[in-house]
Amino acid sequence: MADWKSSYKEDREKVSYGGVGTLKLKPVVNSAGQPIAEDAKVARMRFLSDSTGVKSYWVHTKPQLSRLGKRFTKDFYCKNLNEGLQCGDCEADDFPKRKLYFYVYVRDILHVRQDNDKKWLPVEYYGDNYFVEPVNMSMLLITGVGRGGQTEDKFLMWDKRFGTLCDRNYDWARDGLALNTHYDLTPEMESSEEDAAITEARKTLQPLEDVVGKMISKPNDKKETDTDDVDGEGVMNGYGSIEEELFG
Ligand SMILES: [Zn+2]
Repeated sequence: MADWKSSYKEDREKVSYGGVGTLKLKPVVNSAGQPIAEDAKVARMRFLSDSTGVKSYWVHTKPQLSRLGKRFTKDFYCKNLNEGLQCGDCEADDFPKRKLYFYVYVRDILHVRQDNDKKWLPVEYYGDNYFVEPVNMSMLLITGVGRGGQTEDKFLMWDKRFGTLCDRNYDWARDGLALNTHYDLTPEMESSEEDAAITEARKTLQPLEDVVGKMISKPNDKKETDTDDVDGEGVMNGYGSIEEELFG
């Protein structure tokens, strides 16, 4: 039986390109990798990269099978929509999708279910009960732009209203499963000073563009393929599981 719960901590501690992990709000999945119940719902966080640092790339997201038989997805750079060059995946009628990349500092993540060790404390959040997983790490937030750009619009809207994304705390929330998954971004109405720990964390970050550029596999770029897949889950490139990238 998959120990789905204890895998979170390992995931968080695993660093991918640029020394940061990828923020994922994972549902509970069955042995076939299908999402069956909600779990991680809300990341309470702060932006480390501002909207002027927003990176977006067109990618082809493809399902992969690890050596251990676990399904995950991997993003491949679309030469056509990023650079106007010939792209084999586009020619094969695979429709590319645009994704956004932000550096964030995640304070904690609210889960529907408690961890196996029962160390996560219960908390009430807008009338619902959750368990708090402490994180306190810089991470990469990666998201599709949403249907009709509705997810991207949330980032743009708050940035326009406040003049920056970096001056307050945000909740990044996942809701629903599979094709019904959507994400919401909610700011605190009051701006607040950044903790010293967060200012320090920002100083250690590599340029976002470099990190994302290395993370997305380019066609014929053998060095980014399964040779990095040391634990058979494809996590080294930051795409460790099937859930939100494939269905979200
Ligand atoms: Zn393409």
